[in-house]
Amino acid sequence: MTAESHIRLAVGSQHLYGPETLEQVAANARQVAEGLARALPPGVAVEVGPVLTTAEAIAAFCREAEADPRCIGVAAGMHTFSPARMWIVGLKSLGKPLVHLHTQFHRDLPFAAIDMDYMNLHQAAHGDREFGHICTRLDVRRKVIVGHWAQAEFLARWAAWARAAVAWRDWQNGPIARFGDNMRNVAVTEGDKTAAQIQFGFCVNGYGVGLLARYVEETSEAEIGALVNRCLDEYAVAPELAPGGPRHESLREAAKIEAGLRRFLGEGGFKAFTTTFEDLHGLRQLPGLAVQRLMAEGYGFGAEGDWKTAALVRAIKVMARGLPGGSSFMEDYTYHLDPQGMMVLGAHMLEVCPTLAGAKPSLEIHPLAIGGKDDPCRLVFDAAAGPALNIALVDLGTRFRLLVNQVELAEPSERLPRLPVARALWKPLPDLPTSAAAWIYAGGPHHTCLTTSLSIEHLEDFAEMAGVELVKIDARTTDLWAFRQSLRWNEAYYSSRSR
Ligand code: MN
Repeated sequence: MTAESHIRLAVGSQHLYGPETLEQVAANARQVAEGLARALPPGVAVEVGPVLTTAEAIAAFCREAEADPRCIGVAAGMHTFSPARMWIVGLKSLGKPLVHLHTQFHRDLPFAAIDMDYMNLHQAAHGDREFGHICTRLDVRRKVIVGHWAQAEFLARWAAWARAAVAWRDWQNGPIARFGDNMRNVAVTEGDKTAAQIQFGFCVNGYGVGLLARYVEETSEAEIGALVNRCLDEYAVAPELAPGGPRHESLREAAKIEAGLRRFLGEGGFKAFTTTFEDLHGLRQLPGLAVQRLMAEGYGFGAEGDWKTAALVRAIKVMARGLPGGSSFMEDYTYHLDPQGMMVLGAHMLEVCPTLAGAKPSLEIHPLAIGGKDDPCRLVFDAAAGPALNIALVDLGTRFRLLVNQVELAEPSERLPRLPVARALWKPLPDLPTSAAAWIYAGGPHHTCLTTSLSIEHLEDFAEMAGVELVKIDARTTDLWAFRQSLRWNEAYYSSRSR
């Protein structure tokens, strides 16, 4: 099987030690590459280049990595010493993500056998310091991973970086469809699309919802029937929506919207989309079930025209591919302020992704108070309990900020029989008062991506690739004043860089 993408392994050395040493370096590098490849997400391979011993070879390696569309990033490690001025021209031309693997071929010192030949062959301890020095001098954004390359912790950190690199590649030119515009008068869902494309690569374009309505109208009976059958298989369908039920026609209409939307997104190669309940011209329902099912397939989504969250949901879903758990568009909706356990109830009008569900979702129909359209179909469920991240992308006007809060999803202690939407109940870390105050000081929005598949490390790696500030709120965020000070320091740092 040919991999869709690969990471190029740059192994640094020099000519001082003779050809035998370089042959050994090459053989060791191949073995390390095989070990690294086994830890990668599906579809990603490792390609190991020639041992790099001259400035010309390093420049060529970086140029080729940069030019190859299947190359999603470069991993570098110095097996022996490699004078770092040889790396300057190459590194200056490298725009792809870089990970510095500070490892060495053998885990343990061979105390009884070690001699100077061994010492010359295994010099990462100082070769990588030389390499790191030049990266810092050149202000190259990268991740440094330290440890033996075969150890699980090392490989987990490497895999996290690779997942971030896959998502970063996916964002480049990734088109996002925006049906209608922003919800009127709303601030936080607005933003500078051109600035986002310059920094992040994805391209947001607007489409009249009437165009989508035409796709919906062109849906065939066969498509509708097939989708209805899939819903009957996958969900607990309310009797009124089932075939023969009094509201079955509404489910057929929801299926029709889904089919049209999927065809529109597929034809345009779109990776994410937004809708807004204020602009539904030609659609009979606000897309609810359709959005939920398309998110579960891997599309990013943001409601009320929120293209930033749509892009973010897409990136998180790409990063998390194949991992257990789920990821969804989310909104901090309402609070439980009992001092014994303060919680957030997250939900939306309809659009929560069923990958978060703890049990089989139920497919229901209920009125929607806003939008003035027919009652929309939706999946209703409780998100499964467990650790999660609540993530947001903020446009501060002069720059972007990525914001992440570590949270604990909880089982609701009581049923919520009258709430007709999918929901998630969580305890934000370190606690709700600290988390919410920090979030608000940071200018964080109400729309987020909630994921149970990733760790903060994935976000750190992704933020580093994007060159965007990452603000973390977690168990260690206990001093709000210090948190506010860090926002101010970051302001100085990021303002000194061009957007
Ligand atoms: Mn909303």
